[in-house]
Amino acid sequence: MVEAHLRGVRKALAAGWSVLERGGSALDAIEESVALMEDDDTFDAGRGSFLNRDGKVQLDALIMDGATLQAGGVGCVERLRNPVRAARKILSESPHVYFVGAGAEQFAAEHGVPLCRNEDLIIAREVERLREYQREEAGHGNELFAPTISHDTVGAVALDRQGNIAAATSTGGTLNKAPGRLGDSSLIGCGCYADNLSAAASTTGWGEPIMKLVLAKWTADRVAAGNLPEWAAQEAMNYLKQRLNGHGGIIVLNAQGQIGIAHNTPRMAWACKTIKKEEAGIERNGV
Ligand code: ASP
Repeated sequence: MVEAHLRGVRKALAAGWSVLERGGSALDAIEESVALMEDDDTFDAGRGSFLNRDGKVQLDALIMDGATLQAGGVGCVERLRNPVRAARKILSESPHVYFVGAGAEQFAAEHGVPLCRNEDLIIAREVERLREYQREEAGHGNELFAPTISHDTVGAVALDRQGNIAAATSTGGTLNKAPGRLGDSSLIGCGCYADNLSAAASTTGWGEPIMKLVLAKWTADRVAAGNLPEWAAQEAMNYLKQRLNGHGGIIVLNAQGQIGIAHNTPRMAWACKTIKKEEAGIERNGV
């Protein structure tokens, strides 16, 4: 699905860029980019996500504002097409930071984010993928987190004209996960982080090692210490591999507009645009 991934990230990039071009905020830009990828069946976010052990879609998302450190997160939601929009409402309209399950759905509905049925988020490709996985598991056991098992979480980082950065991450989590399992993606500092004084970062990959290492914040701290995002992104992947034999990918951006993209999986689709140039790819290994 290489082409579908490249198409998906390019479309998300265009949506975010058009917000920034109009003078919109980094926060608005990443919300639009991530919502678009949630709507795209290709990715493990929103409709088309991996199914959990019970055959349900269960979604996590976080959005964070680097200017104010305000954040909004949802975990284990089952009735939201666009968890990032609910997360954004939490960021802007709630004194709280994080809602899970039915409470998150209730908050979303009360704040104008429409609910859907869980079945509306399930597609045939994923029903088959789960069936296949469980069949193999019953036979000889699966290595659930082998690097070849796709991690298709989506994320975005942006810098706006006001000099503010922001980050968002959204996921359906890992294939065949236990119901109620929460990954790194929606946890502050793990799958997502943003602070104008350090960096905006979004991760994908095997969530358990990433959250143990608080990897997005770890990376932002390296940038705050004076390192380039490009170096910090690669170092984060080295640290993930060396410390916990983890795998994944990360995108990083600081308030000076310097960018880092790294992964230690075979592939990770990415797209990136500055005033000077636009790029996209499916591999970006090495600094
Ligand atoms: N990091 C996500 C999780 O563990 C999975 C992914 O990136 O695809 O929930």
